Amino acid sequence: MSPLPATPVDLLVVGAGVVGLAHAVEAHLRGLRVAVVERDAFAAGASIRNFGHICVTAQDGDALRYALAGRERWLWLAAKAGFDAAEAGTLVVARRPEEMAVLEEFAAVRGVEQVRLLDAAAVARHLPGPEALGGAHLPLDLRLDSPTAVPAVAGWLAGQGVPIAWRTSVLSVEPGLVRTSRGDVRAARTVLAVGHDLDRLLPDVAEAAGMTRCLLRMLEVAPPDGLRVAPGVLTGLSLLRYGGFAGRPSAEGLRDAVAAEAPELLDAGMNLMFTQRPGGAIVLGDTHHYSPTHAPFDDEAMAELLLREGARLFGAPSLRVLRRWRGQYASSAAGVLDAAVADGVRAVSVTSGIGMTIAHGLAPAVLDSLFWHS
Ligand SMILES: Cc1cc2nc3c(=O)[nH]c(=O)nc-3n(C[C@H](O)[C@H](O)[C@H](O)COP(=O)(O)OP(=O)(O)OC[C@H]3O[C@@H](n4cnc5c(N)ncnc54)[C@H](O)[C@@H]3O)c2cc1C
Repeated sequence: MSPLPATPVDLLVVGAGVVGLAHAVEAHLRGLRVAVVERDAFAAGASIRNFGHICVTAQDGDALRYALAGRERWLWLAAKAGFDAAEAGTLVVARRPEEMAVLEEFAAVRGVEQVRLLDAAAVARHLPGPEALGGAHLPLDLRLDSPTAVPAVAGWLAGQGVPIAWRTSVLSVEPGLVRTSRGDVRAARTVLAVGHDLDRLLPDVAEAAGMTRCLLRMLEVAPPDGLRVAPGVLTGLSLLRYGGFAGRPSAEGLRDAVAAEAPELLDAGMNLMFTQRPGGAIVLGDTHHYSPTHAPFDDEAMAELLLREGARLFGAPSLRVLRRWRGQYASSAAGVLDAAVADGVRAVSVTSGIGMTIAHGLAPAVLDSLFWHS
């Protein structure tokens, strides 16, 4: 029997990554008849390759609004679907005076509900060894284990009667009709949430939005000395990456300091950060490189750089690698791509590295406009 819905649906979602699932959850909760089509046998894209860091506080503008709403939805889903969403916050470790300056400015703007400045001793209580000058705790942030959380959401949807057609590729879309590798689906509305693959399905749409692909290299390492760290951990390099920090006037001075002391980290687009999985393994990353197509050959120098910086952060002589992988996400200056591609058809892609954080806040806004204004 075909896994595709035999009768027309109100909404067809293409892609069972976090962005597609967020739209399917929201549509289901609104009482719409929704179905999902996914090319792979399980979500194997960016949504399970990430840190599981729900990085709320570091966002700015619309992203912050979506992140705050997304946080509530993650907590709700964790309770319903039975996965762990740790309300452990984020620890930001500052090892340069310029990093402390950014955090102090950030704390002054956001207030103590969102940012708690820490001294060196308080940082060391969470993470011994990094020679920190101080840091901050961002209590609103969450930590998930993506390879279990994302399938749990798909499983919850299926349990609610939302059909998910796995191993089914969408080939083309027109108003009211989606053609797949297993046959046609009639859908009043369609959301294409195919992540970075939008540039293959609808290259003109991706090109018009200035979309490219960002490649990230990731490592899973054994915790040195059985270390347990509940919060996600960001470092000074993260302060150059997320809007909430990078928009502070003192971020300029930090960038100059890193460029003078360790330009290779900027060349590698490094955002040194980690989260710890429930079993103890540490997800350590990452480097960023941008291109429409990435060569398949992995540059070992990138892994060595990441291991060097990771070992410094942990104050460990070396780290033992358990697993390595690369991930890709769609990237554009706007940070979100939301394009009407035909009547009732929307392409939605988070084009910055924060899809886990904002997808559940973005989806209600997309559906509002797709169902009421198109
Ligand atoms: C290494 C890494 C670390 C990251 N860390 C974080 C983090 O800690 N916090 C955070 O907020 N964000 C993080 N991100 C970003 C976040 O993971 C992404 O923004 C998000 O997962 C994108 O979700 P998506 O559903 O759009 O894409 P994907 O997860 O890639 O899902 C797209 C799905 O569409 C399917 N598909 C594609 N084409 C078709 C087709 N024609 N027919 C049917 N199905 C199709 C694919 O098979 C895929 O399953 C990270 C990203 C990476 C790569």
